[in-house]
Amino acid sequence: MDSPVPAVADVAARSVSESKKTNIFDFDRAALERFFEEELGEKKFRAHQVMKWIHHRYVTDFAGMTDLGKALRAKLEERAVVHAPQLIFDKESSDGTHKWLLGMDPKNAIETVYIPDKGRGTLCVSSQVGCALNCQFCSTATQGFNRNLSTAEIIGQVWIAARHLGNVPHQQRKLTNVVMMGMGEPLANFDNVVRAMSIMRDDLGYGLANKRVTLSTAGMVPMIDRLAAESDVSLAVSLHAPNDELRSELVPLNRKYPIAELMDACVRYALRKKGESVTFEYTLMKGVNDQPQHARELIRLMREFDRRVQMKDAAKVNLIPFNPFPGTRFERPDDEAIRGFQKLLNNAGMIAPVRRTRGDDIDAACGQLKGQVMDRTRRQAEFRKRLVAQGAGDAAA
Ligand code: SAH
Repeated sequence: MDSPVPAVADVAARSVSESKKTNIFDFDRAALERFFEEELGEKKFRAHQVMKWIHHRYVTDFAGMTDLGKALRAKLEERAVVHAPQLIFDKESSDGTHKWLLGMDPKNAIETVYIPDKGRGTLCVSSQVGCALNCQFCSTATQGFNRNLSTAEIIGQVWIAARHLGNVPHQQRKLTNVVMMGMGEPLANFDNVVRAMSIMRDDLGYGLANKRVTLSTAGMVPMIDRLAAESDVSLAVSLHAPNDELRSELVPLNRKYPIAELMDACVRYALRKKGESVTFEYTLMKGVNDQPQHARELIRLMREFDRRVQMKDAAKVNLIPFNPFPGTRFERPDDEAIRGFQKLLNNAGMIAPVRRTRGDDIDAACGQLKGQVMDRTRRQAEFRKRLVAQGAGDAAA
């Protein structure tokens, strides 16, 4: 159901008046404890009480946090806010998928999607306003890039969805999984994403098991290693092509980090997280990467991965039928071709589920998220071009 659209200017008025205060949503447990001890001179357990009010009971008004003393509540009101993104509208698909458009600042909005399925509910969360990677088959790329989301803006998406769904962590779990597969490249916004994922997995936050929080990357190799060292979540990699020539065309980041380097990083990740598999996402595009020879190359790549990690099914392939969007030159293969591709993988003994298309009637399917992005990169690029044309040369590079 659509809700009325508030003026985006409302978001501006609110964020300006509150901008000088600390937003509690920016803190994971460790940071909030520090804030309470060092800034407020309070005990750690007070921080825990506040986290429970926010993430378990959806209370954002300090006055309503009734197990805190009056003086502390007043101190918090003076210094801090609990400020979530602004709900611009939400839509529900005929298949139960739900999409929220959330205002992050006066000019930018992002999308968050909830996908209910048998016994589980997955939230697809955005990490940036737009995306700078320019993958050829992704609608977000057509929007350009504006900025990273803060921790508050990332965990705020979970909070808004969880509150809407009536999720009660540890009891009535409407929200069982989070995938960082919305708009943006999560590893390009490392610190904020890792902090937000820590709140998702915290008992005082959303209490999700490590395995049920998945970060998906287009393949930022050095950051995959950092993630292995600093966080404990499931890894998904957007592969989409089994050789460099094709992958560089579809995912330009491949020119910087080609498949061999990417697979090395995935092996290191899997070895570090013993017994965990890595998911390789493969969006099937008609006549582009859906031919039998692609399946054969993919099988070789995945077998090699299993061999190096010394675990059967260490590599899981997730097949995603291409979701079209206006202006794209790609098409979805017909069902027979998709099943044929899957069969080749299955015959080689590989697990390769086809991701069911969900929420496409509300443009909420993979690769269809657009939000509202005031692109900075293109304007900057044009500005640089103008400078160069004016003879500024290297200074503008
Ligand atoms: N930047 C991260 C997170 C985005 S995840 C990443 O690349 O992994 C979104 C997933 O949907 C990625 O696997 C992406 O490649 C895939 N995708 C993008 N556009 C798509 C489209 N039009 N149809 C189907 N899948 C798409």
